[in-house]
Amino acid sequence: MKETVIKDKKFREMISSDVINARIREMAEMINRDYEGKDVLFLGILNGAFLFAAELFRQIKLRARISFVKLASYEGTNSSGSVKELIGWNEDISNMHVVVIEDIVDTGNTLELIYGQLKTRKVADIRIATLLFKPGAYNGTQAPDYVGFKIPNDFVVGYGLDYDGYGRNLPSVYTLVKE
Ligand code: 5GP
Repeated sequence: MKETVIKDKKFREMISSDVINARIREMAEMINRDYEGKDVLFLGILNGAFLFAAELFRQIKLRARISFVKLASYEGTNSSGSVKELIGWNEDISNMHVVVIEDIVDTGNTLELIYGQLKTRKVADIRIATLLFKPGAYNGTQAPDYVGFKIPNDFVVGYGLDYDGYGRNLPSVYTLVKE
């Protein structure tokens, strides 16, 4: 069992890099098939999805573009909570077929927000590709379309996912060891 320590926490390997890379190849094949003949815009959500997005996009054989956006929080002026908004758009995406690339879907709140903001931009259609999905935590209505791995409701790091900024460079996915 491979283990690693990040700051004050111990993590154990859960999905090896070989298994991850093989699964990403399968996901790319599905997307290549589903969007055959179409012009597709991939939209990676920073920071966590950058590695998955790169590996997936390398294997896309469609006429495709990729952009990256980030979710930024700001304090609303007339509401109590903080508001999240996607920032980093630099192009007109109306009438595009959009595939959103996420690292992990947990409660689904982020996904709902992304759907909402894309719909106002009048895209042709939206699908979500996520490397990891926690069905046990999910309370959204529309499940992600392309899922790499369904995982239990535990905290994971690696392959782009961080713990307090660290661990993104681990080539496998690691899960928190509860002590
Ligand atoms: P959601 O909005 O679906 O609850 O959460 C999505 C975001 O929460 C992800 O993009 C990610 O930043 C963070 N997140 C959720 N679960 C985990 C996890 O197990 N590990 C890490 N590193 N981030 C997570």
